[in-house]
Amino acid sequence: MSPRLESYVPVVGRSVIDQLEQLARPLHGARVVHVNSTRVGGGVAEILEKMVPFMNELGMEASWEVIEGDQTFYATTKTFHNALQGEPVAPVNRELQHYEDMNAANAQRLGTTLRQADFVFIHDPQPAALLSRFPDRRGRWIWRCHIDLSHPSRPVWKYLRGQVAGYDASVFSLPDFAQVLPHPVFIIPPSIDPLSEKNIELSQEEVRATVAGVGINPDRPLVVQISRFDRFKDPLGVINSYLLASRFAPELQLVLAGGGASDDPEGETVLEEVNRTAADLPGVCVLPLPTTETSPRIVNALQRAADIIMQKSLREGFGLTVTEGMWKGRPVIGGNAGGIRLQVVNHQTGFLVDTPEGAALRIRYLLFNEEERLRMGERAREFVRENFLITRHLREYLTLMVALHHKTVQGRIEL
Ligand code: UDP
Repeated sequence: MSPRLESYVPVVGRSVIDQLEQLARPLHGARVVHVNSTRVGGGVAEILEKMVPFMNELGMEASWEVIEGDQTFYATTKTFHNALQGEPVAPVNRELQHYEDMNAANAQRLGTTLRQADFVFIHDPQPAALLSRFPDRRGRWIWRCHIDLSHPSRPVWKYLRGQVAGYDASVFSLPDFAQVLPHPVFIIPPSIDPLSEKNIELSQEEVRATVAGVGINPDRPLVVQISRFDRFKDPLGVINSYLLASRFAPELQLVLAGGGASDDPEGETVLEEVNRTAADLPGVCVLPLPTTETSPRIVNALQRAADIIMQKSLREGFGLTVTEGMWKGRPVIGGNAGGIRLQVVNHQTGFLVDTPEGAALRIRYLLFNEEERLRMGERAREFVRENFLITRHLREYLTLMVALHHKTVQGRIEL
């Protein structure tokens, strides 16, 4: 069961929760439906698991629907996803037709719920074509795009744009990801849940036992990068920075932990390369993380055991690992890319770097300036508290709904 909003008072303060209640007042009784393509796995499902109960707690009638599709449908939407993130691939006409047919079938199945809703949040491209099946809709429909649309393949975006242009509003995660659309476009960055297994407070004993369990000495300095084994996360660059920095700090240790290698052939190759590079380095631990229920807690413990969090990505979406590391009160050395730039305020909450040499220099600086390291870590935590917790995310959804609701009241619909 997800925690009630009241449980967040000790984390964000009473006024934040009171404000949410106040904001939600005009929305009491509103029927809100979120639609995405999976109930488990991935950041969208993780957020909806919390967001939907919160909305109910705040007096709305919120529900979460998941569209159904076959293998061809998901293969097509995967191609969409890759094309929209810049790969030169495109679905053929037959696949697009199948995508629309599947959406039509889901529209029929979810018809009553969606037709009666006051607000419909459609997450990502998979269910985006639902809208065209509801010319008689009464509610406000919002397309919530979680993916990086900064350099989409043009023909694929042109097609999808045709599907989403008719929505009442769109939401993107970062200004860089937003596209021009004929309706209001909102920017709402992602968030983390401070009460999830991945972020909840842990005892010192648990943290020490977890790192000792993977062969790391809890009494020696530690740099941690948590990431899928992906070239864009630059794991070899991280090892390189570690090698440069350890010339000045021979006690230094590095953990590179991440999963996702087994279902991604490219990931396996990267993991092999990383293993080969780290084979003769006693201070480096390469830790493939299983996708099991214990994994979030291991991630949590590793981030807490770290003196410095690294996220040396060459390209990045938002970079939730950065948010998580900062929330643990650790400064982050992050690649100068994507959402990392929004989170790492250079010299304040961490350092932005472009090269392994730059990263090594910052590691060295932070290791030899403990007071500054702790101060930066504290600032990082406060920065996340202000900007990137789920309560802020919820507040922005409410604000968006209130804004659209007012428009609605003046126009056609009253709640
Ligand atoms: N993560 C995890 N296990 C892993 C690797 C990553 O639980 O082995 C989590 C990580 O803690 C974060 C998310 O997956 O919550 C990764 O999100 P991020 O935005 O950093 O990168 P992405 O993988 O989406 O590119």
